[in-house]
Amino acid sequence: WAKADGKARFTLFDPERNAHRMTRQALSSGLRPAVERGEFQLAYQPLVGLGDGSVRGVEALVRWCHPRLGLLTPNRFIPLAEENGAIVPLGRWVLRTACRQARTWQLARPDTPVLMSVNVAVRQVWDSDLVADVAEILQETRLPPGLLQLELTESAVMGSAGRPLQALQELHEMGVGIAIDDFGTGYSNLAYLSRLPVTTLKLDGSFVRGFRDAEHPNPADETIVEALVHLAHQLGLSVTAEGVESKDQAQRLRAIGCDTAQGWFYSRAVPAERITELLGASVRA
Ligand code: C2E
Ligand code: MG
Ligand code: MG
Ligand code: MG
Repeated sequence: WAKADGKARFTLFDPERNAHRMTRQALSSGLRPAVERGEFQLAYQPLVGLGDGSVRGVEALVRWCHPRLGLLTPNRFIPLAEENGAIVPLGRWVLRTACRQARTWQLARPDTPVLMSVNVAVRQVWDSDLVADVAEILQETRLPPGLLQLELTESAVMGSAGRPLQALQELHEMGVGIAIDDFGTGYSNLAYLSRLPVTTLKLDGSFVRGFRDAEHPNPADETIVEALVHLAHQLGLSVTAEGVESKDQAQRLRAIGCDTAQGWFYSRAVPAERITELLGASVRA
């Protein structure tokens, strides 16, 4: 009895775990060739102005159209790409593709600026010359630098003496916007951030999820967001709220004075053509 039980529980070969590990390894080693084969796509999620409900910009979100596994979301492969360095060529592809798209929208609607916000992993700053890449891509695509925003996480910029700080300063001087992504999930040192060339805070979706509803009669998060927005404004930063899923949340954010919002209430991340429709532009390919 005991033996059979033990045997069942402590098998050395756990097929499920082994399959998982193999998938991980296969995904990891498949990343670089997949970049070369062009298996990645960008989806775009609108950034909506809370004042007038207009589309101010979009965030580019990468997907891997895997030949065997189908469409993979970034959580499946971005950590692997950061681990093995494939994030550098992948990140370059994302940046170039996003900037090309942004330029197309800019040409189609010259009077309606559409900001392109692109996620950047810390390794892109450390292991590659991000500033040179951005400069080259902006020149090649002819996108005005002011229409590009880079999203970095708090951990990527906190304590960023040396290289990352230098990179941020150079990008800022070029006119590129810098946003702190998922703000509030890390070491939120706003005093320190305000000394960096940061232009926007993107409040993590967990804040909005904690807004008042039937289950949360004491909305600590709403008070915190209100204080953060006021402080950010006084420091000259604009604020974007992530993860807005309901009209009620959007209205509260608007009342608080938050600048822009992003979330399923407005739109999921969608293909470029849907954004083009949303902008009401007729764009030639
Ligand atoms: P993120 O930059 O914080 O992007 C927002 C994520 O929240 C996206 O997930 C988006 O689809 C999701 N989201 C948007 N609205 C809502 C909402 O109302 N409710 C909920 N629950 N979720 C919402 P996604 O596309 O799966 O991306 C996950 C993360 O992967 C991103 O988080 C970002 O950190 C990373 N990522 C995506 N694309 C890239 C990229 O090109 N480069 C790098 N380095 N990282 C990327
Ligand atoms: Mg982001
Ligand atoms: Mg985010
Ligand atoms: Mg987030």
